[in-house]
Amino acid sequence: MLPLIIDTHCHFDPEDVASELILEATSKQVGVLAVGGNATNNRTARESGVPFACGYDWSCVGAEINLESLPGMVAVGELGFDFHRGWSAEIEADQRERFARQAEFARSTNLPIIVHTREADQVTESALAAVALPKTGVIHSFTGDVAFARRLLDLGYYISFSGIVTFRNAEMLRETAKFVPVDRILVETDSPYLSPVPLRGKRNRPAYVRETAAFLAALRGVTLETFAEQTRQNTKVLFGAVEAWGI
Ligand SMILES: [Zn+2]
Repeated sequence: MLPLIIDTHCHFDPEDVASELILEATSKQVGVLAVGGNATNNRTARESGVPFACGYDWSCVGAEINLESLPGMVAVGELGFDFHRGWSAEIEADQRERFARQAEFARSTNLPIIVHTREADQVTESALAAVALPKTGVIHSFTGDVAFARRLLDLGYYISFSGIVTFRNAEMLRETAKFVPVDRILVETDSPYLSPVPLRGKRNRPAYVRETAAFLAALRGVTLETFAEQTRQNTKVLFGAVEAWGI
């Protein structure tokens, strides 16, 4: 019997048939956390029927600032900072404003946050430190070095690895993946992007998290069973005992 792995970060685009991807994942002993962030995949995450996260915008939470009207919502996000397409004071101010609004929602609901950071490490770190959420969250699809990981761990955050860790040129990231403590590591696909080796180039799907999990287990020198157990436990501590996942 395959050990159960939770894909803690996938997106459903409008062209994805979420029900089929979820069914396939279930048949491969993979649990799914559907993540929003923009108006489109906030909606598909919420409608997917699996535990979901969505960013606080009108397409998702709307005026319903109480969780009873959002069954299955286990996190806020993804949210964060991205200067890949360029930086300006206006862009940063806009992202800070959106971050603050969503972090406030997370605080008021005591939900963890799912954090995206790309070419924005210092801003992300300072924003997380400043907001000081008691529940913290996870830095998803992490690509940073050991030093950056350590500072985020010190702030109380979990670190999640996607298929990027399997890429040939990701040696520095593999050092980080060996470094993250056993009680702070998570695994994800970030599908439909970032398929792990040996599936690179294909459209990614939640079931493929098994490849990344097996890779990380071997890298960290533990059995897949042990790695699965550790990451399930971390998923449970961060997102709660979710019945749909059987944890
Ligand atoms: Zn994502």
